[in-house]
Amino acid sequence: MRVKVISVLEDNYMYLVIEENTKDAIAVDAAVSKRLLEIIKREGVTLKAILTTHHHLDHCRGNEELARHHPDLRVYGADKRIGALTNKVSHNEELKFGHINVRCLFTPCHTATHMCYFVWEDDCPDAPAVFSGDTLFIGGCGRFFEGTADQMYKNLMQILGTLPKETKVFCGHEHTIPNLKFALKVEPDSEAVKAKLAWAKARDDEDLPTVPSTLGEEFYYNPFMRVTEESVQKFTGKTDPVEVMDVLRTMKDNFKKPKERPPGPALVALEWGLFRP
Ligand SMILES: [Zn+2]
Repeated sequence: MRVKVISVLEDNYMYLVIEENTKDAIAVDAAVSKRLLEIIKREGVTLKAILTTHHHLDHCRGNEELARHHPDLRVYGADKRIGALTNKVSHNEELKFGHINVRCLFTPCHTATHMCYFVWEDDCPDAPAVFSGDTLFIGGCGRFFEGTADQMYKNLMQILGTLPKETKVFCGHEHTIPNLKFALKVEPDSEAVKAKLAWAKARDDEDLPTVPSTLGEEFYYNPFMRVTEESVQKFTGKTDPVEVMDVLRTMKDNFKKPKERPPGPALVALEWGLFRP
């Protein structure tokens, strides 16, 4: 199976999971229909289904338009607020598309009905993938809009955290650099955070995505996956992992973006010019 990473909007990702033998495809978080239709055409694949992680429009705005183009299209998700929804899924429900298998993982917190999707192909040596939406990001996690720290703890440690370590993590947004800057504040001496941040900056310089990571990696640099580590507990002043999660999220919400760089000489000169009588 091949996962095509598609950058859309400000920093969102949509994905196309392609079964190479049959050229059937499943889209994940189809936010921009026009873009997806172009790619489907270019790749010569048939869109069979859409998996939607949650109802926020930057994850599902394209559903209706895609359903109009594909009358038999099935749209999966766990929330009635998701446009063109045909199949409401529940925790641990398994779906099958040819040789591609999907296990739906209920991960409420960012929204009350958020779903992650664990995907693998039969008889295929490729590592499985998890489409984690706005629950798990590379180096971070989604905001708790409709849930609690207790739920996010369960999502990250008990549901996603128990998937195979080699699982590739495809998340909903490119937030890796700001996430890792916060991670470095939490664990300033962490070589894992420093190395991943340097790598992410190099990717950014080349305008390349930082997805996927692996689940195993996340345990080394993602503070929200490290709430049982002494260093993270010390930073938050708490020891109970749910309380650590809660404090971390509040601190991340308030974490200031670094100040913009001062203007270069050209801009300063221009401003002088503007002020010249
Ligand atoms: Zn969202």
